[in-house]
Amino acid sequence: MNHPAAHPLLDLPPLTAERFASIEQGVADLLGTRHEVVVTQGEALLPLEGCIRSGARPGSTALNVVTGPYGNTFGNWLRDCGAAVVDLAVPFDTAVTADQVAEALAAHPETDFVSLVHAEAATGNTNPVAAIGEVVRAHGALFMLDAVASVGAEPLLPDEWGVDLCVIGAQKAMGGPAGVSAVSVSDRAWARFAANPAAPRRSYLSLLDWKERWIDGGRKALPHAPAQLEMLALEACLGRIAAEGLPAVLGRHAAAAAATRAGAAALGLAPYVGQAAEAAPVATTLRVPDAPLVVAKALTAAPSAPLAAAGPALARVNHYGPAAGLPAVTAALTALATALSLPPTPAVTAATAAWSAASAA
Ligand SMILES: *Cc1c(COP(=O)(O)O)cnc(C)c1O
Repeated sequence: MNHPAAHPLLDLPPLTAERFASIEQGVADLLGTRHEVVVTQGEALLPLEGCIRSGARPGSTALNVVTGPYGNTFGNWLRDCGAAVVDLAVPFDTAVTADQVAEALAAHPETDFVSLVHAEAATGNTNPVAAIGEVVRAHGALFMLDAVASVGAEPLLPDEWGVDLCVIGAQKAMGGPAGVSAVSVSDRAWARFAANPAAPRRSYLSLLDWKERWIDGGRKALPHAPAQLEMLALEACLGRIAAEGLPAVLGRHAAAAAATRAGAAALGLAPYVGQAAEAAPVATTLRVPDAPLVVAKALTAAPSAPLAAAGPALARVNHYGPAAGLPAVTAALTALATALSLPPTPAVTAATAAWSAASAA
């Protein structure tokens, strides 16, 4: 009988409770939060749905800010929970303003839950969370932030901004795995969940289960077998960010966005998000006629370029994680130029100059 061959991903020793807890602490440190962090073993939609189903209930009124596709998902969950939902939608190529949020709260003073996406990876816009947080705090509603596409790409200060529920995933700017995510939960949010008879309990969606079975017991015993490979990958990803230094990681993303915008301008391609201040450092969407065809052509020439079609006339440069660098940005611009039968050199020159200027700033 042959023994099965050794494999680096298999036959690992069990992940201990202590190590799981230290990875949660690593996430808390990354967010600079004093709130409890729960690492959730699934893609980020898991904690997002868990937060909404725990925080909303019949009788709740939720202000759901829609600045991209995820806002619609949140609105549907909120309605599903029986909450009255006020959708505040703005065009996806802009940001919502704190004044717009303040007006919506004034028009619906009974609002007790606010959901907002920080940065939209799908469209490339980002919202002014610090100013919005001030407005939400003054009103008193519970504040949920989807920071999946902002964490590691731009400053994210959930405690300072009054965020009660800050959800992150590792698969964008953190350069980590997609199968694990995390949420920081304020004391106010825990109290709200506990008082909600409709909050998931004895369920994979339940954050209260993790509080009662894991956190309240001092993080000594895991309630079930952890998703070991994802946890090890998250730990490695946190380690890599710590080694580079968070400011340097954020700086790389900002420089990649600036370089992409400059290079695109040299190709005559307009950014979808017109105002640079409203553009997310995580990704840049460009107006490109026949985008699916152009992107397919570009990817045939350069299969590893971080490019995706984002609509019939939109192409997106996903300059996040390891792709937040000048080589990936110039590869994407060169591939686009080639597909459009344009010379790539002006784009590469402009991108390189913008990268240097942003890196020096
Ligand atoms: C990527 C992302 C998520 C996670 O969803 P996916 O379906 O895995 O892409 C959630 N929210 C935002 C804002 C994201 O950018």
